[in-house]
Formats: sequence, C-alpha cells, structure tokens
Amino acid sequence: MDLDEAKPRQISSVIRALDVLSDPWSFLVLREAFFGVRRFDGLQRNLEIARNILSSRLTRLVAEGLLERQLYMARPPRFEYRLTDQGRDFFPPIVGLVTWGDRWRPRKSGPPLDLTHKDCGKTLAPRVVCGACKHPLSPFDVEFENGPGAGTETDFHAPTTRRRDSEQNWLRGRPCSVASTLKVIGDRWSLRILRECFVGVKRFKDFQSSLAIARNILSDRLDLLCKEKILVRRRYQDRPPRFEYVLTPAGYDLYASLVLFMAWGDKWRSPPEGVPLKLRHKLCGQEATPVLVCGNCGGPVRTDNVAYHMHYKFDGQKPAAKSKGAAKSKGAARSKAAAGARKRKPTAPALAKAAAHR
Ligand SMILES: [Zn+2]
Ligand SMILES: [Zn+2]
Repeated sequence: MDLDEAKPRQISSVIRALDVLSDPWSFLVLREAFFGVRRFDGLQRNLEIARNILSSRLTRLVAEGLLERQLYMARPPRFEYRLTDQGRDFFPPIVGLVTWGDRWRPRKSGPPLDLTHKDCGKTLAPRVVCGACKHPLSPFDVEFENGPGAGTETDFHAPTTRRRDSEQNWLRGRPCSVASTLKVIGDRWSLRILRECFVGVKRFKDFQSSLAIARNILSDRLDLLCKEKILVRRRYQDRPPRFEYVLTPAGYDLYASLVLFMAWGDKWRSPPEGVPLKLRHKLCGQEATPVLVCGNCGGPVRTDNVAYHMHYKFDGQKPAAKSKGAAKSKGAARSKAAAGARKRKPTAPALAKAAAHR
C-alpha cells in the first residue's frame, strides 16, 4: 500500500512554507537571490547547476510567487529574477535558521556571515517575540487552537527522491548555516515529525498514526534526528523495552524558526477561510503573531535593514580558502576577517559579462 498518498493530512502553515524550500535547488536559488544574484548565468555559476534544472526551479519559484521575471535589456531580450514581497518575507525565518545553525552547528572558522542591524548598527542577535506584547515566544508559553482554515488536505506530494540522493546538493555553493540545517529538517518527513514533536507526540506508533508514514521511513528519520541531536531516544518502559523521542535543547531551539515559517505560511499560503492554527500567548492572553526582532534595539528585521559581511571568499566557483586571519585564534580571526570582508555588491562585474538567460 502506498502510505504516502493514503491519508489526508492536516493543513499546516509551517509545512506549506517549508515545502517551498524542501527541494535543495529551490532553496539554493532563493538564497542566491538574497545575496543579490539575479541572472541565470550567475546562478548557474554559483551553484554549478545544470541549465535544465535551474530553468525548472526558476519557473517553479516564479509560479509560486517568490520571484518575478523582469526584462533588463531589450535587445537582445534578457531577463533577471527578482524577489517579490512574498520572497522577501522569507528573510526572517531564514535568519532564524542562520542563528540556529551558528549556535548549534558552529564551525571552527566561525560563522560564515556576520549580520548587522542597520537601524542600531549592532551585530544582529535576533529573537522571536510575540507581536502583541513583544515578549520572547517560547514553546512553553504558547497554546494552540484551530483557526478558521483548519482542515485536511490530500494533495500531499511525497518526496520523489530519496533523502540521501539529495543530501549533497544542500551543501553546494557558498558555506551556509541554513543549508546544513535544512539538509536535516528540510526533508519533508523530518519536518513533519518535528512538527508533531512540538505538539507533544513522542512515541513511534503515535507518529505512525498521525503521519501515516511507513515504518522504515519513520525509523530512518527518527534515527537521523537523534544522530543530529535534535531528538533524543528515551526508554519509557522496560518490559518489553519501549522508547520515546523527545526534543533536545537544540530541538526546542528550532521552535523560533518554525513559528516564523508558520507566520510566512499564514500570510501567504492560508486557505481562504483563514489561518489553520492560532497561537495564543499565555503571558499576554493575545493571539500571538511571531515577529523576528533585533535583540539589541527591538526593531524589526527585514532584508533592507540588515547588512552582512561574508567570512569567506566566494567568486562563484567553489568557496575559496578562508581568509589568512582565520588560521589564528578564533576571536582574532573573526574580527580580522570582519574588518577585511568585502560587502558583496548585488551584481558582480562578472555577471554583466555573462550572457543571460533568454
Ligand atoms: Zn504576548
Ligand atoms: Zn537593532
């Protein structure tokens, strides 16, 4: 029996949002767009992606409403791909994942990017707050209730490629905390399992019944999430031995990113009746709209008020060796690299030379 298609599933904004990014290539193209890479050949060079695959992903991202195709030269006609409002709105959840990746998957050479909040000029240490009372949102002080758009959907597309087939694609191009995180949670099944964890599901048979997932796939994904220290396996019964799966501190810390993806899905992918799930913030009693703000000044975090410095050289081929300073002590290396890092211009000169996509 094909369990993947067998059962209607709950409509979920976080799943709808992350499904957009669950294909490594779509995520990588979107990431390049945030770095200001807009043209076909620039994308192709940065990602070392086959033309037909890139073409299909651009078509898909345009159809999804995340990118728009714009003529930038009339003769011969040349097009570039720009982020739409919907695409730009993915910035806060992606910054959420950057923060998570830097915290829980630190690199010896330090974070690949330093972000600065332009409004206050300080290094961006973002946090997710309740839009109503501005206090930080944690999974322990939020209640769920069904919203007007609650229901089930049957147009679930099970992954067409096996997880391991696409694993390496996540790591193409520039060094990136988000890609290494999505490599783990971006898999459609892993994400669904994680979502169940946040609503209190712990046991194998409960995951199986709520997700209608095949035993071997569930087992594989639970093992992966444990190996990645997002879940931990605990024995809850001795005879016969039985185990349950609970979130680790790193797992709980994914909450902030997931609610930001949920907010994106609520805004851009809700059913016509309204949002599928409402969050109520116990601290203030209000409906909680998760918002990403600067930890220093409390101002909002958007694409246009965050600057970045790259701690790596990226010339469109494979990432070059890290800067000379990075071999020294971590602190010294980071500040030196930060001082020397050039801010990437939206359009590299090389891009202008490249013949563009027709
Ligand atoms: Zn609140
Ligand atoms: Zn700030």
